[in-house]
Amino acid sequence: MLKGQRHLQLLAEPKKIVITTHHKPDGDALGSSLGLYHWLKSKGHSVEVVLSSDFPTFLDWMPGREDVIIYPHAAEEAARLLAEAAIIFCLDYSALSRTNILEPLIVNAPGDKWMIDHHLDPEDFASLRYWDSNAAATAQLIYTFISEVYEDKDAITAEIATCLYAGIMTDTGSFRFRSTTSAVHHIIASLIEAGARNWEIHEQIYNSSTENRLKFLGYCLLNCLEVIPAYNTAIFSVSKEDLQKFEVTTGDTEGLVNYALSVKGIRLAALFIDRTELIKLSLRSIGDIPCNEICKKYFNGGGHLNASGGSSSEELSQVVNKFKSILPEYKEILTK
Ligand code: 5GP
Ligand code: MN
Repeated sequence: MLKGQRHLQLLAEPKKIVITTHHKPDGDALGSSLGLYHWLKSKGHSVEVVLSSDFPTFLDWMPGREDVIIYPHAAEEAARLLAEAAIIFCLDYSALSRTNILEPLIVNAPGDKWMIDHHLDPEDFASLRYWDSNAAATAQLIYTFISEVYEDKDAITAEIATCLYAGIMTDTGSFRFRSTTSAVHHIIASLIEAGARNWEIHEQIYNSSTENRLKFLGYCLLNCLEVIPAYNTAIFSVSKEDLQKFEVTTGDTEGLVNYALSVKGIRLAALFIDRTELIKLSLRSIGDIPCNEICKKYFNGGGHLNASGGSSSEELSQVVNKFKSILPEYKEILTK
């Protein structure tokens, strides 16, 4: 789980550090990045969080988000910081390609790369790897990195606790998924003790839809959902025109796929979105249906057993048809 311990002492002296995470950060990506950011800063390091893209508006309250450097807005500065960093943290991704436009900058940077992550099949690019695919969220690993690896639990401030709580909450679907162990609840209790205002975080994340976003959801439920009872599967396919009509922005489609999974009896849910260059695919499943295998084998992606993603450069209808043609291969586990 922890590989490359000898590197840990590097944090004993103030260092230039850059924290990176995956493209289009979700609650866990941003929460773990900012939680670690606050802790490293409190230890005297010079720290920056560099993102390849902006983050959804439902995360636009997290302590420290105003300090984040977004590559498309500050490319030169981001490139310089990555080139000068002694340590580059790689959070919530295990494949460098998930950093999108930052990938070549991270690959070419001379600094030590430290991976903290919970995705399957990690690539071998990090000198230090703190990795556990059983962890519910990268934010959970940041918590144990601080409290167990560095034995510095008392340094977890309300700001850090807030960011980590948000990361764990979003990656566990508000403590619903199978990954929500008693250890997760113990960590959550200690984050609340450290000052995370749990009810406020839920409020900020879940009660922040725009009117357009809610109408978009209603539109998708009425017009874009297809249930395939023979395979206990449900699909949303969302076209470019649909996105334009409702002025859909980053994060507005977050959680949509779960509505397909909430149909009684459905064990596999898919969301296909026609983004600017690619069709983006999100898969969710129940039990042992391997979303990650399907994404890896057929859609250039990967992820967790019950939640994964991928993409395709084909037409929307072609990608949907390809997905449907794969279902017979999984008929036995889909219908058991
Ligand atoms: P989402 O469906 O919310 O975009 O992603 C769900 C999970 O799937 C993510 O946490 C991540 O683990 C994985 N994932 C999403 N997109 C990709 C992708 O393009 N490539 C890989 N390898 N994993 C992805
Ligand atoms: Mn995560």
